[in-house]
Amino acid sequence: MDVAEKGKDSALKVNSGIDPPPSLDPVSAKRFIRKKKPALSPDDFTKGILEGNRTLLSRAITMIESHRSDHQKIAQEIISKCLPHSGRSVRIGITGVPGVGKSSFIEAIGTQLTSQGHKLAVLAIDPSSERSGGSILGDKTRMETLSGDPGAFIRPSPSAGSLGGVARKTRETMLLCEAAGFDVIFVETVGVGQSETAVHSMVDFFLLLMLAGAGDELQGIKRGIMEMADGLAITKADGDNIHASNRAALEYRNALHLFPPTENGQVPKVLCISAREKSGLEELWATIGEFIHQVKSNGHFDKNRMNQSNHWMNQTIQDQLLGHFFRHPQMVHQIKKTEALVQQGKLSSFKGAGQLLDLYFSKFNSGVDPGENI
Ligand code: GDP
Repeated sequence: MDVAEKGKDSALKVNSGIDPPPSLDPVSAKRFIRKKKPALSPDDFTKGILEGNRTLLSRAITMIESHRSDHQKIAQEIISKCLPHSGRSVRIGITGVPGVGKSSFIEAIGTQLTSQGHKLAVLAIDPSSERSGGSILGDKTRMETLSGDPGAFIRPSPSAGSLGGVARKTRETMLLCEAAGFDVIFVETVGVGQSETAVHSMVDFFLLLMLAGAGDELQGIKRGIMEMADGLAITKADGDNIHASNRAALEYRNALHLFPPTENGQVPKVLCISAREKSGLEELWATIGEFIHQVKSNGHFDKNRMNQSNHWMNQTIQDQLLGHFFRHPQMVHQIKKTEALVQQGKLSSFKGAGQLLDLYFSKFNSGVDPGENI
């Protein structure tokens, strides 16, 4: 009997009929085996962004947000290449305490804008990320309709890092979004002070959302924030709340008249809006349009943007220098030692600072890595 003949009756013969199961369920396998993304050059990223490729835009933003210095270098190159194509948008800052109705408002006005053919990018600066790494703004259930809208791009706040660092990343993200063709940019933040200043210094129009009937203190609204606002909107002006909203609007109008005139020569308007009823939104959009028209004709629009660019350059220098100083391994050790001496009263704060600065300038003042991230 030859070998083939013999195999026929062997106990080792495999009967046909049942396919052996794969070693790993293919659906799960897809989840576990991640394809390595091909490395792209800054030119590839830029080309994709200018063509409006969302995936590449998102990946470039991830580079901006990354703490790795190689990513930072690529991100900076992409930003430089996109810069000549940025700037052609209306940049609007939106602030107000949690619960005032920011996300409902953005969702309501955002869907109106995209239905009119606008391309809207919604960015955020979440000051809570600085301390806790947590988030006041960024839970995923917000703006559900807008998230699925092809005319809108929503990016939550960069997390972690100093507020200055987070804000810088949001501003750089804004530039890339503009290069990708977004003509309306919303930058959202919550009313807690410093983050407002950061948003104010990157937008053309700063909108403060307020609730009727809640005292100013309750809303955490500081006079400084009112002074920064280019417009106020009383939210939830619907149902039983209409009357109170109109009264609040009147009070704020009167209060704003007591403020010194704004640098751009505009008196901030106060409107009542309702995201639920979708009322007052068109009027608000028209008010923003009018404001932009006015500041463009009186030269303040360009002046403001130029000042903002300088501000961000200086801010970046400060962030990089501080980061280099405080994070250098040898400085970290020395700073701890000096802090202990200052706390024990053995060294004055001024002298302690002087000693640390002397040490820094004598040792580390060369070679600040421009890619080093904050
Ligand atoms: P955010 O924390 O500032 O983003 O506020 P949200 O948009 O999440 O709104 C807070 C609450 O106010 C939610 O329960 C909303 O349903 C409600 N809300 C938002 N906009 C309106 C509105 O126009 N009218 C009414 N009646 N309620 C609203």
